[in-house]
Amino acid sequence: MARISFQGRVAIVTGAGGGLGRAHALDLAARGAKVVVNDLGGGIDGRGGGAAMADQVVKEITAAGGEAVASYDSVATPEGGKAIVQTALDAFGTVDVLINNAGNIRNAPFTDLTPEAIDVLLAVHVKGAFYVTQPAFAVMRDKGYGRIVFTSSAAGIFGNAEQANYAAAKGAVLGLANVVALEGAPHGVKVNTILPAADSRMAAAMNPETLAGIPTTPAHGEPEMITAMATYLAGEDNPHTHEAFSVARGRYARVFIGVTEGYHVAADAPVATADDIAAHVDTIRDQNGYHVPGSLVEEFALIP
Ligand code: NAD
Repeated sequence: MARISFQGRVAIVTGAGGGLGRAHALDLAARGAKVVVNDLGGGIDGRGGGAAMADQVVKEITAAGGEAVASYDSVATPEGGKAIVQTALDAFGTVDVLINNAGNIRNAPFTDLTPEAIDVLLAVHVKGAFYVTQPAFAVMRDKGYGRIVFTSSAAGIFGNAEQANYAAAKGAVLGLANVVALEGAPHGVKVNTILPAADSRMAAAMNPETLAGIPTTPAHGEPEMITAMATYLAGEDNPHTHEAFSVARGRYARVFIGVTEGYHVAADAPVATADDIAAHVDTIRDQNGYHVPGSLVEEFALIP
């Protein structure tokens, strides 16, 4: 099996000062990429900041013979996003790979979520993904090559108690990735999303009560398990785009959103009523023969 190489490639990893991002940055660098190690350096709630976390990872990369530069800008502002991408351009001349990984959490029961706890989550996960990806995408589009990996979450796609702000943000990340994938396709820019679960400080901050039901049997939780998928998707030979993958407890699996065959009201039939819905709700909900549309256009094209 040939080793996936990033020789000659330039990668940006946001939130790479620890946890999953650090593992992504180390692996890409070990495979030859020149890496921008971005991290605000604060706490898990996004408070605080500093150079130490990003500097430490740059040190690890250079000590291992790799090439990296640190970036301490926040992804959560347009200026920060631009500065992160400019760091790659100044240091290495381009950007080929972007892994949007920076994140924070402020978990609380739904009605206890403060406006600030909602705002800061949307700012980092959603706006941050916009602000870094826009300038990086422009470079990739113009040169006709790019690989972008977004980081969503099972909490965002399937739901998890006490994480409404986080889930809303992570759900939005998948919506954003879907569109960047469609717009990137004609320009050689492949865009995919991962839904990780790994042992990091973020995972350690979860309320165990909301996780009751997860098997307690031993399972892989190393950040490197997530990196395996992120690096694969960031690779030149990755043929996939506009897809999402769960990496959890040692299992790698595709995640997709499908639409059922449904109940169709012909154009010349009367307008449907609530009673028609009640009469056909089992057909509407029947998962047999579902479709996985690749876009809004593909979804509507399925309707007879
Ligand atoms: P982590 O807290 O170790 O890593 C997140 C990093 O992002 C931190 O180093 C932090 O300093 C940085 N960061 C926060 N705000 C930033 C900002 N505004 N600008 C730049 N950097 C910023 O946690 P992690 O588990 O490694 O999380 C990595 C990503 O994976 C996050 O997006 C997280 O939501 C996602 N995720 C993790 C898990 C898991 O089980 N660990 C599950 C689902 C999703």
